Amino acid sequence: MAAVAGGIAEPRCQALDLSDAQRCVAQATAYDNLFCPFHAKQCFGLYMGYKRRNAELDALAANGPAHLRHSKVPLSSQAFEAIQSEEELQDVHGYLFSQLVLLGKVISARKLHHKALFLARDGLWSQGLP
Ligand SMILES: [Zn+2]
Repeated sequence: MAAVAGGIAEPRCQALDLSDAQRCVAQATAYDNLFCPFHAKQCFGLYMGYKRRNAELDALAANGPAHLRHSKVPLSSQAFEAIQSEEELQDVHGYLFSQLVLLGKVISARKLHHKALFLARDGLWSQGLP
């Protein structure tokens, strides 16, 4: 049974609204009474987007250009001197650019998720949501 304190149903949703960063005033009924139904859906959507982009990042790495896949030199130490053609260089550049864009999306999604949904408690992200 929900308690009401100051006109706000308890337990109160822990999420911040994405548009104005104000704390949600709805009653928390989902995820061990952390979120209201709306923010529970939002949390799940952000989490699934994060997981999907991470899977895309893994798939991208597995299908990278041959030059990088077969190189014994780590990417951080690559001078790309062994690249012999413009086409091969374009493949490596395109791959690294795609990886950069995707990684930026993964980081942004994670920051957004944490900023909006983990005001009072941390850890659900690493535990994995349903
Ligand atoms: Zn809420």
